[in-house]
Amino acid sequence: MEEMQLLSTLKEYFGFESFRPLQRKIIDSVFAGDDNLVIMPTGGGKSICFQLPAILLPKITLVISPLIALMKDQVDGLTANGISAAFLNSSQAFEDQQAIFQQIDENKLKLLYVAPESLQVIDRFLSDGKVSLIAIDEAHCISSWGHDFRPAYTQLGYLKNRFPSTPLIALTATADKATRKDICNQLNIPGAKKHVASFDRKNLSLEVRPGTKRFDQIVDFIKARKNESGIIYCLSRKNTEDIAAKLKANGLQAEAYHAGLSHLERTKIQDDFINDTKQIICATIAFGMGIDKSNIRWVIHYNMPKNLEGYYQEIGRAGRDGLPSDTMLFHSYADVVQLQKFATNSGNEAVQLAKLDRMKQYSEALTCRRKILLNYFGELKIEDCGNCDICRNPPTFFDGTILAQKALSCIYRLKGKEPITLLIDVLRGAQNEAVLEKNYNQLKTYGIGREISWRDWQQYIIQFINLGYIEIAFHKNNHLQLTLLAKEVLFEAGKVQLAKILDEKELREQEE
Ligand code: ADP
Ligand code: ZN
Repeated sequence: MEEMQLLSTLKEYFGFESFRPLQRKIIDSVFAGDDNLVIMPTGGGKSICFQLPAILLPKITLVISPLIALMKDQVDGLTANGISAAFLNSSQAFEDQQAIFQQIDENKLKLLYVAPESLQVIDRFLSDGKVSLIAIDEAHCISSWGHDFRPAYTQLGYLKNRFPSTPLIALTATADKATRKDICNQLNIPGAKKHVASFDRKNLSLEVRPGTKRFDQIVDFIKARKNESGIIYCLSRKNTEDIAAKLKANGLQAEAYHAGLSHLERTKIQDDFINDTKQIICATIAFGMGIDKSNIRWVIHYNMPKNLEGYYQEIGRAGRDGLPSDTMLFHSYADVVQLQKFATNSGNEAVQLAKLDRMKQYSEALTCRRKILLNYFGELKIEDCGNCDICRNPPTFFDGTILAQKALSCIYRLKGKEPITLLIDVLRGAQNEAVLEKNYNQLKTYGIGREISWRDWQQYIIQFINLGYIEIAFHKNNHLQLTLLAKEVLFEAGKVQLAKILDEKELREQEE
């Protein structure tokens, strides 16, 4: 496709002068007929990647989306821009559906948004030659390894068989490496081109605080930010209502938002928030998906999220306009216990618990928080960010290179096939059954870390994970594996700075 034509279409239908990084590359790849997987943070500009090709391609583009509530808004937005679009879901009247079938038949639609459950309804109106492109939005929903698994998504694997010559584009804001692979496998597009945008959102400040007296802390926080919009995320509906009521009692304009409200009530609150009539929303995670408000200045997590994917997506709703914005997470042991219970009752307990563990380690981290997040999403970072609470108020560091070499070489000897507990046992020369059974006492690295206590090793290893030297294979029994950064330490004399660990007494003093 010609550069000129792409740019003029971008300008005419969307009003933008230029493409963002990656958008152009992805669009070229779509026109080349490739399958594509796009990982871009919320607000990154994923929609253009399939909407713009849809306008220029000869036949219809199907957009599979799980968010029925947002379909109408999305289609209204497109129609307002002069793009012929419609949506199909189970909430529609028969006549409306009939009208859509007719439009498909006459090739009058450029984009059709479909809920996965409704795909079979239109199946007989479509054939391989009649569809130009299939876009799968929120593609992480197909993977039970992701954090928002939707059973209706699992059937989407049939699309590639049904429309073999139609290119597929899967898009998501959140997927770790294993989940990415799983998405491609499940969609039958193992050869898809992968496009991963940087997840670094430098304008978001990161802060974690102990959860004691969090309500008072929130009131102070908000009062210091007059006339700024923000979201307070809570775990339960009741929490959102309690906090909103208490904020009101403190003279602050707040509204509760959760899935228990009527559609009408929710729309009203969203509109008031978008139009700056209401500035504070106390919400469950139901709030925010698809909300396009660029000037949200802060996001507070009253409760700890289930995992880093959710956390990053939620704080990502702040500062989409690129201006400085603040995020604050309250960390409390009670939340962890509560979340552990949820995870235990979920389908894939082991993965959920391991992800929760990473969340907890992030909250308790002693090293730059942004580095932890970016490492988690597979962007290996070496520099500290300067815009998180740890960078602003750093702990005491010491040269931990030797300790790192011990731990990393031990993982190397264990061939990346053991979890943290066994690693520490081998480092400390433990004589238990697990170690002896596998002859780990014969390893060169057996007992090389005897002088360090079990608890300290645990803390250091978590720091190595946070620093990006080690990754946890969540889907392989939480085995510890080395990253590319680790190779630098092992083979190229790379240095490792470790934060001094506080002892129990110092920790308690900090909590108070
Ligand atoms: P995502 O789906 O990745 O969350 P969107 O596609 O909704 O992101 O885009 C986020 C915001 O960025 C929207 O307000 C959109 O209008 C804007 N945007 C997208 N592409 C561009 C561009 N090339 N130039 C300017 N703004 C853009
Ligand atoms: Zn930092």
